[in-house]
Amino acid sequence: MSMNNPFEGKELWFAVGSQDLYGEETLRQVGVQAADIAKSLNDSGRIPVKLVLKPTLKDSDSILNFMVDASSNPACIGVVAWMHTFSPAKMWIRGLEKLRKPLLQLNTQHHVEIPWDTIDMDFMNLNQSAHGDREFGYILTRLGIPRKIVVGHYTDPEVADKIGVWARACAGWDAANNMKVCRWGDNMRDVAVTEGDKTEAERVFGVSVNTWPVNELVEHVNAVTDDQVKDLIEDYKRSYEVAPELLDSRYDSLVVAAREELGMRAMMEEVGATAAVDNFQDLGGLHQLPGVGAQRLMADGYGFSAEGDWKTSVLIRIGNVMGYGLKGGCSLMEDYSYNFVPGHEEIMGAHMLEVSPTLLTEGRPRLEIHPLSIGDREDPVRLVFTATPCTDAVVVSLADVRERFRLVMNVVDVVEPGGSLAKLPVARALWKPRPSLKVSAECWLRAGAAHHTCMTTTVGREAWEDFARMAGVELAVIDENTEPRRFEADLRAAELYHRLDNRH
Ligand code: MN
Repeated sequence: MSMNNPFEGKELWFAVGSQDLYGEETLRQVGVQAADIAKSLNDSGRIPVKLVLKPTLKDSDSILNFMVDASSNPACIGVVAWMHTFSPAKMWIRGLEKLRKPLLQLNTQHHVEIPWDTIDMDFMNLNQSAHGDREFGYILTRLGIPRKIVVGHYTDPEVADKIGVWARACAGWDAANNMKVCRWGDNMRDVAVTEGDKTEAERVFGVSVNTWPVNELVEHVNAVTDDQVKDLIEDYKRSYEVAPELLDSRYDSLVVAAREELGMRAMMEEVGATAAVDNFQDLGGLHQLPGVGAQRLMADGYGFSAEGDWKTSVLIRIGNVMGYGLKGGCSLMEDYSYNFVPGHEEIMGAHMLEVSPTLLTEGRPRLEIHPLSIGDREDPVRLVFTATPCTDAVVVSLADVRERFRLVMNVVDVVEPGGSLAKLPVARALWKPRPSLKVSAECWLRAGAAHHTCMTTTVGREAWEDFARMAGVELAVIDENTEPRRFEADLRAAELYHRLDNRH
């Protein structure tokens, strides 16, 4: 039941620019060198999506055709462009104006070292991407086309890694543009930040967000067979430390939880949804607020969030796709409690139930049942664990700031709690926010960022930066270099920029 590989069947198209001026022999060598570069990058194992070399682009019509094809072909999730030689950039205008897929400008060349003693005019004419890529950069900037820029020799692992991170962001962007979010119920009453403009979200992110009656979910839960339930409970027993009472006096509750998980999966499949959200205030005929099922949906690559917060569910789905195959995970998170002890200034995040077990990379979660003060239903079954420490994780929030969306991200390090948390029967994480708790929280509050976040421990800041650039959405970053006065000034500048920017 786990997530399909989101990179399978997807391609990055490698656009190599030149012109007819140089003659056939030069263009033949351009093709050979481009093939070397594509092969080397594909063989590096650092880029999860296949880079497909396309015929060298030499004139305006072929560039236009290439860009139209790239934009309409569902397999193509991004274009990598490299000007091997000088490719006069007015030839690129008509095509670039039609490009609808993410772009990466690769500034590389075939040779590592200038051949000091043998370089002649022929060599220089053939190997002049330092020249050609500047012409290309000019036209991209003039046209206002967002792109990632990667500079370096193509055999440099850092170059392949940067392309690899961008490829993951391309897959996240592709997932957003093909995402249906299934909402069971509406927003938690009176909560502000979880609200948002769903119509605008479809325009900006391509996500389709719609609501279904929760009792339609109940019908799917009721349609689950006993055999399905038995199989799933066996899966629980294999995967988790199941509390003995769940297999004994509380077995009926475990059956309910399993039925709810299977019902959610069935309905999401019927709807074609890759993300979902529920609301504890609107549970219809459900017997429990979904706990373990919601947690496992996230672990299987779906988006999930609570309290009607579809925006965080969207982020979870994107984070899951971007981080596919990497150690770690992606989860709904909520800032709950500070630790102000000097030297241990930390934030404890959790949720009532819905935290993904992918944040636990060592050991097995416990499957337990406990009362829940909200939701007005039977005790929910949930996975309990503490997220495994790791560095360079991020928490990302998406807020609707009236006329647009704002992403805010904090780079954090997940750490061990200072005690057992034995009486807290929920999944949780403890982290040290960068640069410090005080600065992080001040800036987070300043930006009006949400209390619900998407924590990713797989991909970090660069993938989300690439994603934000593709979406044309503001991303305010709080990291080790953040200083509150500068952050406030940057927020003001970004506010102006995004109000004036009419490209998105
Ligand atoms: Mn919440």
